Amino acid sequence: MEPGLRPYAGRQARLRKKLEARDLPLLVVSNPRNIFYLTGFRGSAGVAVISPSEAVLWVDPRYTLQAQGDAWGVEVIEERGPILKAVARWLRKKNLRRVGLEDSTVTISELRALERAVHGKVRFDAESGMIESLRFIKDSEEVARIREASRVTVAAFKAVLPHVKPGVKESELAAEIDYQMRLSGADGPAFETIVASGPRGARPHARPSGKVLEKSELVIFDLGAILSGYASDMSRTVYLGEPPGRIRRLYKAVLEAQQMAVETLHKGVRCCEVDGTARRVLEGRGLGKYFTHSTGHGVGIDIHEKPRLGRSDKTRLKVGCVVTVEPGVYLEGLGGIRLEDTVLVGAQGPEILTPAPMNNWHLS
Ligand code: ZN
Ligand code: ZN
Repeated sequence: MEPGLRPYAGRQARLRKKLEARDLPLLVVSNPRNIFYLTGFRGSAGVAVISPSEAVLWVDPRYTLQAQGDAWGVEVIEERGPILKAVARWLRKKNLRRVGLEDSTVTISELRALERAVHGKVRFDAESGMIESLRFIKDSEEVARIREASRVTVAAFKAVLPHVKPGVKESELAAEIDYQMRLSGADGPAFETIVASGPRGARPHARPSGKVLEKSELVIFDLGAILSGYASDMSRTVYLGEPPGRIRRLYKAVLEAQQMAVETLHKGVRCCEVDGTARRVLEGRGLGKYFTHSTGHGVGIDIHEKPRLGRSDKTRLKVGCVVTVEPGVYLEGLGGIRLEDTVLVGAQGPEILTPAPMNNWHLS
C-alpha cells in the first residue's frame, strides 16, 4: 500500500467501529465531502455504502475513470440510470431490515423514492453527523494538507500586500489574491475572497466591489486557499496611513482578543470557553456590542465545519482539531477589524498555521 493511501483505510475502519457501536449493519453515504473523506474520490455526485465487510461506490459515467483511479478501498460500480435506485436494488438483495442513511444531503423526495424501491422492506434510519464526528479530529494526512493550504494562503496575502494602496480597487486585490493562490498550486479559493475597505468593512461578509481604496481607511482581507481538497481561512486588517488613536485602540483590542483566545486552544477546553475569552477582552473595553459573530469554526474539507467556537457549543477540543480564531469589531460608518488564524490543537498546545504578521498593519 502506498503511504498516501493509508488514511482511507484508517477512516473506513473508524467508521466501521462506529457502525458496530450503534448496531447498524451499514451506512449509505451521500454527502460528496464524506465520500471524499472515506475514499479520496472527489466527484460531485455518487453514493457509497460502507458495511463491516463491504464498501461500494456508485457513480455515473462522467466519474467512472476518476473513481477507478482515485477511490480507495471501494468497489466502483458505474450506473447509467438513477443511482439511488441502483443502491436500493443492491440493498434489497441483502435482506436487511434497517440501514443508516445520511440525512443532511438526501431530500425527502429521494427518501420516498428509496423507500418505494426497496418495497418498504428496509427501514432507513436518519444518521446525522456520524462521519462528521470522525472529521472533527484530523489525521496526519489531513493536517499536512491544511498546513499546505495555509502556506499558500499566507503567501498570497504577502504577495498582494505591496499592491494595497490608495487608488486600487477591492476587486483588483481580490483577483490578485485568487491568482496568486492558483499560481502556488491551490485548487482555487476556498470561498469568495473578501476585500472590504472603509465603511464597507462594517459588513463582516462584504463582497469585493469596484470601490477604490482611499487614504485613512481600514481594509479587511479574508482569504483561504483550497488545496488537495482541504481549506484554510485567514483574515488580516490594515490601515492606509498613520492610524489615529481610536483606530489603534480598536486594533489593539481585537489583536489581544485574538491572541488570548488562541492561547486557550488546548485539548479538553470547551469551545464556548475559547469564545468567552475573546468576548471578555472586547467587552472589557466596551466593544462587546461590536463583536457580532462567534469566535471561530472548524476547518477541513469544508471551510465551515464542526465545532463552532461560539457561546453555546460545549464541545471539548481534542488534539488534531483545526479551528479558526477570528474575533472582530464592526462599526457602522467607520469599518471593521477582523484578525483570523487557522490553528491546530496540538499535543503541546496551539500551533498557528497561518502566521502572516499582524504587527505591520499601517501601510504608508
Ligand atoms: Zn475567514
Ligand atoms: Zn472563518
